[in-house]
Amino acid sequence: MIIARSKLRMLKRLAMKTGIRLPRKYKRLLCKKCGELLIPGRTVRVRVKSRRQKHVVQTCLNCGYMRRFIINRKKD
Ligand SMILES: [Zn+2]
Repeated sequence: MIIARSKLRMLKRLAMKTGIRLPRKYKRLLCKKCGELLIPGRTVRVRVKSRRQKHVVQTCLNCGYMRRFIINRKKD
């Protein structure tokens, strides 16, 4: 886990240096504020809320940064 975290941090730093944007799957894994690797149940709290629009709330347990993802349902 520690190795993966440092690798991701390195990757992020490299991306910032070179101006290359990180792929979406990596972006979602990192806290936008503190750069913490987000592991559900460990460093991030994930909650699904279904008021009006169904969405997922990710809360970084390191800095408290909250992020919302709206779940789009294509079945209509
Ligand atoms: Zn954070």
